[in-house]
Amino acid sequence: MTDNVRVRFAPSPTGPLHIGGVRTALFNYLFAKKYNGTFVLRIEDTDQTRYVKNAEQYIVDALKWCNIPFDEGPGNNEKFGPYRQSERKELYQEYADILLEKGWAYYAFDTAEELDAHRKNHEENGKTFTYNWHNREKLNSSLALSAQEVEAKLAAGDKYVVRFKTPQDETLILEDEIRGKIKIDTNVLDDKVLFKSDGMPTYHLANIVDDHLMEISHVIRGEEWLPSMALHILLYRAFDWKAPKFAHLPLILKPVGKGKLSKRDGDKLGFPVFPLEYTNEQTGDVSRGYKEDGYFNDAFINMLALLGWNPGTEQEIFSLEELVEAFDLSRVSKSGAKFSPDKTNWFNQQYLQTKSDEELTALYLPILEEKGITADENFTQKIVSLIKERATFVADFWELSNFFFENPSEYDEKAAKKQWKETTGELMQELITVISNIEEFNIENAQTEIKGWITSKEIGFGKVMQPLRLSLVGKLAGPDLFDIMTMIGKENTIARIKNAIEKLS
Ligand code: GLU
Repeated sequence: MTDNVRVRFAPSPTGPLHIGGVRTALFNYLFAKKYNGTFVLRIEDTDQTRYVKNAEQYIVDALKWCNIPFDEGPGNNEKFGPYRQSERKELYQEYADILLEKGWAYYAFDTAEELDAHRKNHEENGKTFTYNWHNREKLNSSLALSAQEVEAKLAAGDKYVVRFKTPQDETLILEDEIRGKIKIDTNVLDDKVLFKSDGMPTYHLANIVDDHLMEISHVIRGEEWLPSMALHILLYRAFDWKAPKFAHLPLILKPVGKGKLSKRDGDKLGFPVFPLEYTNEQTGDVSRGYKEDGYFNDAFINMLALLGWNPGTEQEIFSLEELVEAFDLSRVSKSGAKFSPDKTNWFNQQYLQTKSDEELTALYLPILEEKGITADENFTQKIVSLIKERATFVADFWELSNFFFENPSEYDEKAAKKQWKETTGELMQELITVISNIEEFNIENAQTEIKGWITSKEIGFGKVMQPLRLSLVGKLAGPDLFDIMTMIGKENTIARIKNAIEKLS
């Protein structure tokens, strides 16, 4: 089943790529890589009314950021190109003609007004109008008209569509790699439009023709395309082509309750639904992206991989290579996968811990610079190593480490009230003397001297250490005090304690 795997991601460039789309691309990529196959990007831009100019570039950029590049696609290894359907336009007419010739399709000349009238009429009688076997020979179609009448209409340039002639009274057994067998009664299907007199194919025709010409072996796509599968299988039959295998991925659901995850859910709960930031050129609206919000691409991909797929073990952290190794369609679930922003943050936090201090420092330095702080690289790297375990994002670093770079400008009121007693000022004065006397101010010496002094005074450690923390940090938070003191240095430590005595005593 897995010889010569060729899969495709076939988005329509109608706007930014939703994370559901990225997940589809990812599963295609993983499947292709697992079986040493080819991952194709095809841009399905036949619907010019919904075309958005910057969308294709967005899709390409998003795949790049996610680190799941395509092997063939626009501008890259164009063996089966072009890969934009708008550039393949001339091709589809020929295939519409083949179906007409074979009797698998027919012309329909019904105007929009005529169809509207049928619809209304049906509605009034509590029915739904379906263009198919039960009425196609009575409507304005080539099945109802004589050959001469059809010729005349075509010659006169009447507008038409080409519809698929769905076979009647048949039960199709569709085979989905994820869902198993699906039974469909062809009588419930409508005769979908395949081609229009403006020379443009619809999605269905272009999609099948291209999948065939591009030798696609597996169609892996979202659940929303499941209802089209019967038609697609019938089209392969009509052309006498071998159909690819199909796999319809489960929906990504809202964090709360049922329904498909939408941009509105993200806006409401404060998380992005797009991989990259996106500016709508018409409205100027900017939508947030995972990248710009500070998520790591590998954490994002890891999170997406587990939306609808599971490895069958407890393992949650996977590198891309491990995903390729572990992935298979047999472990993709049929039911929708609930999206969790908290889990996404958890993944980011996990990934942040595995990044090297060097890498994280390189990301932190520009943030510091923006705050007007030119920090030494080694100094910053040490800080990063001290605080990273408490961070989910690099952007959290500032909150966790600002006191390394600047003196506290205020002191947490509640903590001060509780920790700064009447005798604290005096104690802190003594501490200043102890610190001043430490010749070589390193962790070991500071620990020995300060702890020794506290012990000799027979007071609790907290009586000194808490006010000291307040003096250095401004609040009761942060890493080990001896780390902080030796990082900011003896002078600064003393200055900060003096400052606190002045303000809090
Ligand atoms: N162009 C369709 C989309 O936008 C592709 C569906 C398919 O993969 O067949 O999702």
